[in-house]
Amino acid sequence: MKFAPALAIVAAIGCSDDARATAPAAPIVDAAPPRVPVSFRVDPSFSDADRGEIARAALIWNDLTLPASRISLEGGDWRLYRVDVTRGGFNGFCSPPERLIEIDSEPVGASLFEVALHEFGHAVGLEHTTTGVMMARTVSTDFTFDVFLECQRAGACLIPNLPCDIR
Ligand SMILES: [Zn+2]
Repeated sequence: MKFAPALAIVAAIGCSDDARATAPAAPIVDAAPPRVPVSFRVDPSFSDADRGEIARAALIWNDLTLPASRISLEGGDWRLYRVDVTRGGFNGFCSPPERLIEIDSEPVGASLFEVALHEFGHAVGLEHTTTGVMMARTVSTDFTFDVFLECQRAGACLIPNLPCDIR
């Protein structure tokens, strides 16, 4: 059974007993297109410590996303590079069509972890949001409601049990 995305979101964030009672079991999985995991080859010029920070950013997404949208840092067809100037001229740049993330070798006002966290969000299909980690040109590590909704819209996340006070 398929539901329109808007209805699926309403069902997922419904907080009254009635909403829970009538919410479909798993409409969002059903509506999402098939996806493949996002696996990277990480530029060998990153130090072990840097790789640890990149892995930490990937893990945070992997705790939120559906299995088909998980990030792997081993042997994939995506590339994660360190560059002196990214193509966009910002701290990070992500091109899903090219399966590419560039991270500035000296990010301004942001850590490697923060840049990787944002760019991984794009890699799993998210666009920019008005709050939280996916804000454009702003450093944040917050996973706000906007970010969860965008993640759901992108087909990368479910929002099964949001607390009522997050609405
Ligand atoms: Zn961005």
